[in-house]
Amino acid sequence: MKNNKQLRNWLDEFNLNHPLTIAGPCSAETEDQVLKIAHSLKDTKATVFRAGLWKPRTRPGNFEGVGSLGLKWLQKAKQETGMLITTEVANANHVELALKHDIDILWIGARSTVSPFIVQEIAEALKGTDKPVLIKNPVNPDLSLWLGAVERFYSCNIKNLGVIHRGFSTYEKTNYRNNPEWQIAIELQNKFPDLPLILDPSHIAGRRDIIFDLCQTALGLNYDGFMVETHHDPDNAWSDAAQQVTPSSLIKIIKDLKIRKITDHADEYKNNLNNLRTKINLVDSQLLETLGKRMNIAEEIGVLKKENNVAVLQSKRWNEILEKMIAEGKKKDLSEQFILRVYKAIHQESINHQQSIFKQ
Ligand code: PEP
Ligand code: MN
Repeated sequence: MKNNKQLRNWLDEFNLNHPLTIAGPCSAETEDQVLKIAHSLKDTKATVFRAGLWKPRTRPGNFEGVGSLGLKWLQKAKQETGMLITTEVANANHVELALKHDIDILWIGARSTVSPFIVQEIAEALKGTDKPVLIKNPVNPDLSLWLGAVERFYSCNIKNLGVIHRGFSTYEKTNYRNNPEWQIAIELQNKFPDLPLILDPSHIAGRRDIIFDLCQTALGLNYDGFMVETHHDPDNAWSDAAQQVTPSSLIKIIKDLKIRKITDHADEYKNNLNNLRTKINLVDSQLLETLGKRMNIAEEIGVLKKENNVAVLQSKRWNEILEKMIAEGKKKDLSEQFILRVYKAIHQESINHQQSIFKQ
């Protein structure tokens, strides 16, 4: 089946269906664990089996992977289940070993994408092969680094590429382990519309309860597939225990997803409309998040005013804000009337929050 971009790319050549589903544990732990999980994924919609062998851990002291020992476990999983196999490579030596053991697809981890030297080393080690490579976004929200990695592979004539969106780290703690910042992946998709875009909901979420919602959002944004960390006993996994799902949960997630396929003009219209609506929903959530942050700051100001016995309403400051926002709004094609209405409402809400502080 064609993926929804109607592309002829390596996903079609490998006969991988839409959405492409890559599943398997964060880390290969033992031969038994690898084979057990692979067998429970056999005959499901997951067609590619993942397992990390060389684990880039942010802090030392955590499980760092079984290394090259696991390569033959992956080969065995492939022989016994017919699934394709994929693992992360982080240097030229990993590439050499992975090629020798016929790993079908390689992925570049988020901590490698940040380093042009590492990306170049890996791309050069792959020169002359047609190995598919999936490039995760860098840990920091920098589109150029991600694009740069894609360009480095293209320059080495590695053409069978895809990208994996796994979210971005932030200093501030949020609901996610790694903030999705969907707009960055959407921008990359606009620049390289033919590049398969895969979501890694596991590393975005850091927990299993929102994996389904993240996958559904991605389908609405025309993603080509998912990479979901899957373990037969997630709570006892040697790495990333909180975010892994069992094979049966994964089957349910895939079954419940609403997958749209373009078959005619009317469907294409609906699909485009849905994509745009998904984008609007994301912007609306960001708006609310920002408004919530503004009110928290207003409350902190309320505490200061209360301690210093200052009145809640400071008209001079309010007029300055309004003037500034009207001028900025104009640059974004937002009418003065609109800015006035929106800001009056925001200001009123801030005053309400501050007044409740004064009453405490
Ligand atoms: C992983 O896929 O297990 C992994 C280490 O991911 P990332 O590079 O996205 O942190
Ligand atoms: Mn992981």
